Amino acid sequence: MATLLEEITAVRQLAEAELNAISSAEGLDRFRVRFLARKGRIAGLFDGLRNAPPEERPALGKALNELRTTVQGLFDRKASGFASEASERPKLDLTLPGRRHPSGTRHPITRTLEEIKSIFLSMGFGIADGPELEDDYHNFGALNFPPDHPARDTQDTFFIDSTALLRTHTSPVQIRVMEQHQPPVRVIMPGKVYRNEAISARSYCLFHQVEGLYVDRGVTFSELKGTLISFIKQFYGSGTRYKFRPTFFPFTEPSADIYISCFICGGKGCRLCKQAGWLEILGCGMVDPNVFRSVGYDAERYTGYAFGMGIERIALLRYGIDDIRLFFENDVRFLNQF
Ligand SMILES: [Zn+2]
Repeated sequence: MATLLEEITAVRQLAEAELNAISSAEGLDRFRVRFLARKGRIAGLFDGLRNAPPEERPALGKALNELRTTVQGLFDRKASGFASEASERPKLDLTLPGRRHPSGTRHPITRTLEEIKSIFLSMGFGIADGPELEDDYHNFGALNFPPDHPARDTQDTFFIDSTALLRTHTSPVQIRVMEQHQPPVRVIMPGKVYRNEAISARSYCLFHQVEGLYVDRGVTFSELKGTLISFIKQFYGSGTRYKFRPTFFPFTEPSADIYISCFICGGKGCRLCKQAGWLEILGCGMVDPNVFRSVGYDAERYTGYAFGMGIERIALLRYGIDDIRLFFENDVRFLNQF
């Protein structure tokens, strides 16, 4: 008959082998009952201690305690392995409703810009782009704003140093296009512009413009009118009335502001048009020969027209928005409406 010590060794080897082979939580529980429970194999060995000769009992007791500690330790390690595996497994609940991905909307400024772009593209204009950080020459000098000319005061901006500034209009792109290309030139220039304005419901330090430029031999004011009237009819509706009113811009001569009949009241007068019946939407004119000279075009040979409009103003009017700051606050309650 095997001695108790031999049995302890055999139980240890068996327990280790069985624990290694266990692959489920159920198997682990069966092992616990067989080896570690009150009536398990190890407890049974403790019972055998009573029959051992008294002088051997202290050593056997020590060996048994070690066996129990070792097997319990191995068991705990295996059990914690199963527990972490179970928590890593994704819990799939097929009864849960699916997650909806909210779809965004296009910003009202983007929508307005894209509509304007597509109308001019259909009329044969290309699209040109340029830097928002400009030099004084491209933003003012080349556009016939001499230093200290009072027209500069209407376009105060943010100066980075004495010559670098944030552009106040997209007109410097016109200069850059003309510097790089000989006529014919027919492009629109959409983009962000900056002004040092007190921020209010009506003005902001940042807004968007679209400008247009057409230069070739024999371009006339009637072509300017034809193109812009066609734009107005497509964008604001075929029944829209319009008028041209003379004005001053440093870079065009003659120059005009275009007004359209108020699309809310049809010209009778309302809050939107401030009872005037008309809304100013565009500035335009024939390019000043001085501008052609500054880009090296022959002003005797070429003529051209230019125009520009503020996108925020158009979007405010179109969507009946009464505060320009809403465009830049990124409040989804506002943006979701478009
Ligand atoms: Zn009106």
